[in-house]
Amino acid sequence: MTLLLKNGVGFVEHKLVPLQILIVNGRIQELNGATNQADEVIDLQHAFISPGLIDLHVHLREPGFTNKETIRTGGAAAVHGGFTTIGAMANLNPTPDTPARFKHQLELNQQTPVKIKQYAPVTKKRAGHEIVDFAQLANAGAFAFSDDGAGIENANVMLNAMQKLAKLQLPLCDHAQDMTLTNGGVLNAGAAAQRFKVPGVNNVSETAQIARNLVLAASTGVHYHVCHVSTKESINLIRVAKAQGVNVTCEVTPHHLLLDDTMIKAEHAAQFKMNPPLRSAADRLACVAGLLDGTIDMIATDHAPHTETDKELGILSSPNGIVGSETAFALLYTKFVKTGIWPLANLINWMSTAPKKLFQLQNAGQLKVGDSADIAVFDLDRQVSIKETNFLSKGHNSPFIGESVIGSTVLTLVDGKVAYRRKQDND
Ligand SMILES: [Zn+2]
Repeated sequence: MTLLLKNGVGFVEHKLVPLQILIVNGRIQELNGATNQADEVIDLQHAFISPGLIDLHVHLREPGFTNKETIRTGGAAAVHGGFTTIGAMANLNPTPDTPARFKHQLELNQQTPVKIKQYAPVTKKRAGHEIVDFAQLANAGAFAFSDDGAGIENANVMLNAMQKLAKLQLPLCDHAQDMTLTNGGVLNAGAAAQRFKVPGVNNVSETAQIARNLVLAASTGVHYHVCHVSTKESINLIRVAKAQGVNVTCEVTPHHLLLDDTMIKAEHAAQFKMNPPLRSAADRLACVAGLLDGTIDMIATDHAPHTETDKELGILSSPNGIVGSETAFALLYTKFVKTGIWPLANLINWMSTAPKKLFQLQNAGQLKVGDSADIAVFDLDRQVSIKETNFLSKGHNSPFIGESVIGSTVLTLVDGKVAYRRKQDND
């Protein structure tokens, strides 16, 4: 089976050039080669060809919470957003914390064409008390470990986990949050919490936990990865730790780059509720600067679907999280690339090349002869509006509905097979 992508543009040796790609049996055979015919030819009409995007922070909800999302719908959402590889978090029921449960999870993950890298938890049932058998779970296929959704309170548990993972040379991905400092908060402490008359989450609940864990990480040499960093103080700490040679990396979400706590709309405040919360304008700008100076390594969406009923519980009682897979690229392209703040190449690096490199992902997207044809194609001309009816995720919990964006996905290939293709006049 051969497939020819014609009339695209893409980066070849760091230059944006007209690009044509020949795919044979799922792999890239030619970049701008001489072949002009194939079993199938797709005319891209000058759309932008990117390596398949990689999102190492998503919640697929199956098993346990399939009213919110399933592996199928979460996978469909991912490829709709141009993602060809995603990292699925372990806050499931049952938790994939034994080799048998983990292997069963990998079987379930086969239900979608998107490539799923599965996280195993750091502690049994993600309860923070007893560490899992890392070696066995690594053997079963865990690529990294995370208790995401909760911080690991006990320092000795964290140290123990880091020592073991350092030996195995596998990353520990930390939802950095000291629960003793969160004050039952639901929005950022300060003006936002006051405006909505709800308890606030301080910056220190994140930053203090990162400070402790950086010290522990430095003593073990583990690859310590901070999930969804959100405060200027956290970013400063990570900057200093990197300068001292600590093996630390971190990610930021699109929403912490795009929104701050003054932008929460009262009429649907629950759609702006996530953990960590939207912070101050200064924190948001520190996230943008942190990416540009290399302190923040990559972007990950923290795609967290919930049902309408879940979010109707309102700001105080609704669960944390928003969907992100289907809007991430277009929003970031529109707000940061189109406006001249970031070069397009940087965005592609943070959403594809960097996570591939940092987590040593084999068989993930890059535009290289001989590699898997994991490819995303984006329309960088047409303006569209983010509509609830266009989501393929079960969750429509997004604060961005109604926004006008450029950069919708035209085509997503996983191993050379069409996993998403835009229908005429659809986005
Ligand atoms: Zn988290």
